Amino acid sequence: MNYHQYFPIDVVNGPGTRVTLFVSGCEHQCRGCYNQSTWNPCSGHLFDQAMIEQVIKDLNDTRIKRRGLSLSGGDPLYPQNLDDILALVQRVKNECPGKDIWLWTGYTLDELTPAQRAVIAYVDVLVDGKFEQSLADPSLVFRGSSNQVIHYLSDNHEFKA
Ligand code: SF4
Repeated sequence: MNYHQYFPIDVVNGPGTRVTLFVSGCEHQCRGCYNQSTWNPCSGHLFDQAMIEQVIKDLNDTRIKRRGLSLSGGDPLYPQNLDDILALVQRVKNECPGKDIWLWTGYTLDELTPAQRAVIAYVDVLVDGKFEQSLADPSLVFRGSSNQVIHYLSDNHEFKA
């Protein structure tokens, strides 16, 4: 898997102070996409072992407490990303107690494949659906258009948008 950007401290993409990873690879081709440069799965940089260790280390950093990990893109559930994303969310849940995971995807929850659902099993909050330009609303929190839904999948979240 490749990624475009990694923010070790982020207060925009999800509640609280977080670490955020924007992955490469997306097949949705939403009109008005703000991140077209991420569509090509070969763009960006390799998400290698060192990057995985950095994410774990940042989440466990006691000097700057992070609430959790945000996964966006691109699409973390793009088929070619699933093996690496699954390994990452498993490690976060095993090695970073109490941290939540938010994930943004262009797929809708009800159309996810079994392999995508295997990832979602570790995700606390899923924001789903393509960006629909005609339904765009800048007043929405943590989503770009009103068709997108914030699914609270676990009890591990203190904040609801
Ligand atoms: S799902 Fe996100 S990254 Fe992919 S095309 Fe739509 S807005 Fe762009």
